[in-house]
Amino acid sequence: MEILSVNAGSSSLKFTLFELPFEKVVVSGTFEKIGIEGSFYTIKYNGEKIRKEVKLKDHTDAVKILMNELIDMKILDSYDDLDAVGHRVVHGGDTYFDSIIITKEVEEKIEELIPLGPLHNPANLTGIRSFKKILPKIPQVAVFDTAFHQTMSDEEYLYAVPMEWYEKFAVRKYGFHGTSHKYIATKMREIIGEDKKIISCHLGNGASLCAIKDGKCVDTSMGFAPLAGFIMGTRSGDVDPSIIPYVMSKTGETVDDVLNDLNKKSGMLALSGVSSDMRDIEEAYLNKDPRCIRAMNMYIKHIANYLSMYNTLLEGTDYIVFTAGIGENSNLVRKLLIDKFKFMGVKLDEEKNNQRGISGEISTEDSTIKVVVLPTDEELMIAKDTYNLVNKEK
Ligand code: ADP
Repeated sequence: MEILSVNAGSSSLKFTLFELPFEKVVVSGTFEKIGIEGSFYTIKYNGEKIRKEVKLKDHTDAVKILMNELIDMKILDSYDDLDAVGHRVVHGGDTYFDSIIITKEVEEKIEELIPLGPLHNPANLTGIRSFKKILPKIPQVAVFDTAFHQTMSDEEYLYAVPMEWYEKFAVRKYGFHGTSHKYIATKMREIIGEDKKIISCHLGNGASLCAIKDGKCVDTSMGFAPLAGFIMGTRSGDVDPSIIPYVMSKTGETVDDVLNDLNKKSGMLALSGVSSDMRDIEEAYLNKDPRCIRAMNMYIKHIANYLSMYNTLLEGTDYIVFTAGIGENSNLVRKLLIDKFKFMGVKLDEEKNNQRGISGEISTEDSTIKVVVLPTDEELMIAKDTYNLVNKEK
């Protein structure tokens, strides 16, 4: 089956066409600057990458061009050749525990959830509607970033705030990166042959940890919004909310301005004064830049705090799994972090850890917790969920 995995942003649309069940990537690409001056798209096919400048008025234009390109490239014979489209949808509230075939009701619910996911759900919905317009007969599936975390118990997801905030306004922890953490849980089960106690460390620009038991999420570090948890590239992670009105009173900023500061001008960017990109920070850290040394130490300490918390919650951990841009590529971050747990007998095999592009175990034989690097694949997870749901319907 030909399944298209889609991630629609406010001015972008990323896609990967998979052939399932073979998990083969046929073609992938991105449409960028949709509705803005200078729009273009790139397509990767057969080891070649093409880039074309084209006026993209809206997402529907992008979908039309994409489908016509797939036909011109002889990947599809006609629009009907595409079997299904799976969409990344950031917020599924506490309605969706799993991926779902998109009906009119589902579409309305995603719209209703916009106040909880104001930065992403509107764009995700635009993506869904654009595909619906061009391909009205093709099934579409929503895969939610929050769904995997819906197995958290109320002791994990409630905040100690007035109960009516939860009851009337759905204020609770939701968690994000669920598709990535689910991929890790699923892949680890495939590799090991059974479910083990896992702490999945998704370390990218945005980052979160997830404690997994019996293949299910027990707790995760992001919260009501993707701002919570530990220090990220440009996000602060957990801070005392009293800071917000105080800064507003000092600077004259609005609440949206301060939230923007916390989301886009904080984290490693603010601490390092250099960059939000871990590669730049690592370089400066190795060159003994004092701000980058402090930033890195804080970054590691904050993640270690969450690791310790989840180790206690799981009553012991079998596997720590590193994934996403930093988790997969930064041997330095992995080493500094795992060294914090040496006292517990967790040990890295330095040679394995230093291998470029490593995937697999990087701990020593006698390590008390096994440490693994596993590249995440959210696009494939979306395509697999879509494939499974569409086949179930048949
Ligand atoms: P997101 O999807 O959240 O934008 P990614 O998962 O792509 O983020 O991760 C981006 C992060 O990964 C950046 O901070 C980048 O510096 C880091 N990264 C990528 N490659 C390396 C590397 N070789 N060494 C260290 N950090 C890396």
